[in-house]
Amino acid sequence: MKDRTVNEHARGFTLVSIGGVSIALDSGFSRLDGVRHGFSTRLGGVSPAPYDSLNLSLTRDDSKRNVLRNYRVFFDAAGLDHSSAVLVNHEHGANVVRVNNANAGQGLVREPLPFCDAMITNDPSLTLVTLHADCGCCYLYDPEHRAIGLAHAGWKGTLKRVAQRMVERMSAEFGSEPSRMHAALGPCICRSCFEVGEEIADEFVKEFSCAALKLPGRKGKAYTDIEAALALQLEDAGLAPENITSMGLCTYEREDLFFSYRRDKGQTGAMIGFLKLENRETAK
Ligand SMILES: [Zn+2]
Repeated sequence: MKDRTVNEHARGFTLVSIGGVSIALDSGFSRLDGVRHGFSTRLGGVSPAPYDSLNLSLTRDDSKRNVLRNYRVFFDAAGLDHSSAVLVNHEHGANVVRVNNANAGQGLVREPLPFCDAMITNDPSLTLVTLHADCGCCYLYDPEHRAIGLAHAGWKGTLKRVAQRMVERMSAEFGSEPSRMHAALGPCICRSCFEVGEEIADEFVKEFSCAALKLPGRKGKAYTDIEAALALQLEDAGLAPENITSMGLCTYEREDLFFSYRRDKGQTGAMIGFLKLENRETAK
């Protein structure tokens, strides 16, 4: 088997704090014009332990009232209208849904979208929102055709190449040229923390022809690397390695900033990734 190496991509983040709410930004995406992005932290919300405090998941045992309040607090801090949000309805698959202004509010104050792990749009009125508590987050931007995509990528969706499917769908729908697209990877559980059954790590090695996706663990276990597997499939889709950046943040390690499903044994909240095209009229 041909063994691929993982290209090192640029890593970096900034943490912007507004009124007690902190938002993580990818250093690479922050330099791009025409798009707004970010990843929430657990700080600045109203939910009690173990959802303390900015839980943005409606599927935990936290009150809906708290979660909706948290959305309002977070969107206000981000300078966005919470009624522009459309939430992913993830099923750990690789289904990509194209959305427009008719979908605003779905999954938050209206019925959910059909099952999907990724959404794409060229509509600047919408804010794409994905939910995470260890799973990968992939942001895509096509500045030429003014289109975006956002994916939730757990290990299953990563193996099903959800990020690559999103690039392909953007090419089909908007004429996006992969070599001129930009991708950013949000906080997720890192390869030093993500221990899985050895057979799962083997699947990663096989799917991406990359031995580096399996690191030694305890007996019958191994560590695998969601972020590297996402970067590899983005390269397979035609993205230039230099156009792929990462926040380089681990949800499991940064208990001060993030909920982690694995670390907190399921009793925890969730963060969101968000992505929105800037309205040309209001863009600086
Ligand atoms: Zn880690």
